[in-house]
Amino acid sequence: MRIQVDSDACVGSGQCALALPEVFDQDDADGRVVLLDDRPPAGLHGAVREAASRCPVRAITAQ
Ligand code: SF4
Repeated sequence: MRIQVDSDACVGSGQCALALPEVFDQDDADGRVVLLDDRPPAGLHGAVREAASRCPVRAITAQ
């Protein structure tokens, strides 16, 4: 799995960082998503897909 985030689209809702802090964080200044691990281990793939589906602006792509 490879994760990509569109920080321009991100509205800083924080859903991803709340759900999966091992992979997603938020910028201290503007709250936009910060990707900590673009190739997470297999055990996290389901949680990544779930986090991506909960992003209100679909700024997370995981393939
Ligand atoms: S859930 Fe989406 S909009 Fe919210 S911080 Fe994460 S990437 Fe940004």
